[in-house]
Amino acid sequence: MIKNPLELYKHLDQSNCRRCLLPSCMAFSVAVIQGQKKISDCPLLSAEKINELSGGIVRKKSMSEEQDAYLAVLQEEIAQQDLKDIANRLDLPLKEKTVGVKCLGKHFWINTQGGMTSECHCNNWVHIPILHYLLQSKGSQPVGEWIDFPAIKDAGGKERFFAHRCEESMQQLVDEHTELFFEILDLFEAEEVLESEADKARILYPLPNVPFLINYWESEEAFPSKLNILFDSKVSENTNVESVYMIGRGMVEMFHQLIIRHSSGELF
Ligand code: SF4
Repeated sequence: MIKNPLELYKHLDQSNCRRCLLPSCMAFSVAVIQGQKKISDCPLLSAEKINELSGGIVRKKSMSEEQDAYLAVLQEEIAQQDLKDIANRLDLPLKEKTVGVKCLGKHFWINTQGGMTSECHCNNWVHIPILHYLLQSKGSQPVGEWIDFPAIKDAGGKERFFAHRCEESMQQLVDEHTELFFEILDLFEAEEVLESEADKARILYPLPNVPFLINYWESEEAFPSKLNILFDSKVSENTNVESVYMIGRGMVEMFHQLIIRHSSGELF
């Protein structure tokens, strides 16, 4: 069995000829293991070699495949619960055998099998955290004490990813489109924080009782701009760190798409 790129690399021509449209044989090995290329995409491998290797390559699951698998587990758990009990516990509305959860000011409705409907676009970044919220939240009210991502329970090892993929990516969007970015936040019922050390501060609710505080400082002379995202200290009683990270990534992606749309297709 071939479980990693190095093992596959040993079977390749190793000429880095680029005929597979990748810069090297090692890049090709990585792409095959990650499921982005097929072994037959290397024209220098014989048909016999392709046959020999094909059955033995253990492909890693892509992120979306992993998310789909996790979603299926959560849906099975929801199917074993009574939605009325969940609605009572978390003080949520019920409508035609579905329970409603507000995410960024819009309702998403979960049915008895964990399926989701909404007037908004449904995808994993909102579906998974909502199901997790229904199953695990204690319904704790926020207390207004703000903590950063590393202070969230079990955040160890994920801080770097959150800082890079959520905070830095969001900061880049705000730097380039400051006014539009905050107009978009208003569409999602963001609350303006008037007494803040930041130049602009808004509170968003991607889940009930799970506020995200976005603080932004504009650049000034020698000081570059800065953005951070803070959470209520009760966050771990209502969701887990994986959901917080997923929501952060999902929001950045959604804001990016909205900015592209509002900027008449202008990419940056
Ligand atoms: S086509 Fe094959 S030999 Fe050429 S770089 Fe790609 S993997 Fe390597």
